[in-house]
Amino acid sequence: MRSVDVVIVGASLSAAAAAKRLVDAGLETIVLERKELPRHKICSGILSPRGHRFLLENFGPLPPEALHQPTSCRGVTFHFPSMVSMPMDFFGGSTPHLHRKYSDYWAIKRSGAEVHDRTSFSGLEDRGDHVLVNARKNGEPVEYRARQVIGADGPSSLVIRAIYPDYPQSIPWFFVGQKFHDIIACPLSPDYFHFWFHPGLGHYTWSHARDGRQIVGVGFKRGDNFAKKHENVVNYLEEKHGVRLHPHTEDEGCGENFGPSLINRYVFGKGNVLITGQAAGFLNMIGEGMSCALHSGAISGEAVVEARLRNRPVQEMYRRMIASEVRRTTDQWNPLKIAFERPHEADFPAALMALGWRDRARVLRDLWRFIVLYKEFKWGRQIFGAAMQRPLIGGYSMQRWL
Ligand SMILES: Cc1cc2nc3c(=O)[nH]c(=O)nc-3n(C[C@H](O)[C@H](O)[C@H](O)COP(=O)(O)OP(=O)(O)OC[C@H]3O[C@@H](n4cnc5c(N)ncnc54)[C@H](O)[C@@H]3O)c2cc1C
Repeated sequence: MRSVDVVIVGASLSAAAAAKRLVDAGLETIVLERKELPRHKICSGILSPRGHRFLLENFGPLPPEALHQPTSCRGVTFHFPSMVSMPMDFFGGSTPHLHRKYSDYWAIKRSGAEVHDRTSFSGLEDRGDHVLVNARKNGEPVEYRARQVIGADGPSSLVIRAIYPDYPQSIPWFFVGQKFHDIIACPLSPDYFHFWFHPGLGHYTWSHARDGRQIVGVGFKRGDNFAKKHENVVNYLEEKHGVRLHPHTEDEGCGENFGPSLINRYVFGKGNVLITGQAAGFLNMIGEGMSCALHSGAISGEAVVEARLRNRPVQEMYRRMIASEVRRTTDQWNPLKIAFERPHEADFPAALMALGWRDRARVLRDLWRFIVLYKEFKWGRQIFGAAMQRPLIGGYSMQRWL
């Protein structure tokens, strides 16, 4: 059995950030990744300015293979049923359009940690002064012993299930699917990520250019017909925006743990096991998750280092240190913060004020109708209620965190 200071599960961006902090502090760190590296990761790859800064400061400039075409993104364009479109540029200029297969591989290698790919985490036992980790490599069981474990294994985290078996039943889940199309004609600017606030299309509808093709994606709930929802969006794009696409050549999808950051109910782990990144619930509005994965990952690594230096329980350190990232992520969903401050990295208030008063009224009406759509979901009432309540009651109660 291999004995190390820290085992990290997952070899994505949160893991790379955690590993960087641990390795820099001299801790022996192993990263387990179930897939063969470099591995595919479903993602639009639109990096926020904060995520970009983190990568530059911690890992250096991105290599060319870590980028898709177009290699950068200016910001996000919101489209509304009233046919008002609002392009919003990122603060500080364009950001890289990441090719996750290669950007994540580059970051994990730059972290300096030892990486065991094709090694799937399957369970753990926290024995107080160490954790036994069970995994399978090429189908064969392997065991590790670590002082701490960091679960950076994304939305369907098995590390969370190992410590809280009922957790998956206690949060809202939704699915996303995207199809890749060759383009006949596409008036949507390739410089922006496009997002539709349209109740007739669904709660999460997007499109953007990648490597000469157009991606059209939709969010849906269990039991929905992805193909029909997607077809509906393609027809809408043609009719309303003049987008003409060939039939899709590829598609993919996955389940998402949507909602923990919206309702302020994160999961940070137990005992010597920390949870970070999207597994912990970090996901910004409109599904931007890389910046908060990087920052929360780094904080989990720092918490391990601090706990050792101060001889304090690692959970105590992590929960104290992660509070800033919780506030930042949860604020993105706060309607009052959106209206009067700038929790997002593209300037929504400025883009709204740039519209004439009639269009502004249309956008606000369309947004209201869109929010009401959430009430149709099982979790809608809770999510909607929490989003509306938070600015009134304030605070980020620790009791809501697991
Ligand atoms: C369609 C789509 C589009 C998106 N677009 C954007 C975007 O444009 N911008 C943005 O910022 N975010 C986007 N996101 C969100 C973003 O991809 C995630 O929030 C982010 O990747 C989370 O990083 P993470 O490190 O927490 O986990 P993940 O990136 O989910 O990585 C988890 C890793 O753990 C590994 N793993 C899982 N289980 C095990 C196991 N049992 N054993 C070993 N390894 C395991 C996985 O293989 C994976 O490598 C998008 C997501 C989707 C689904």
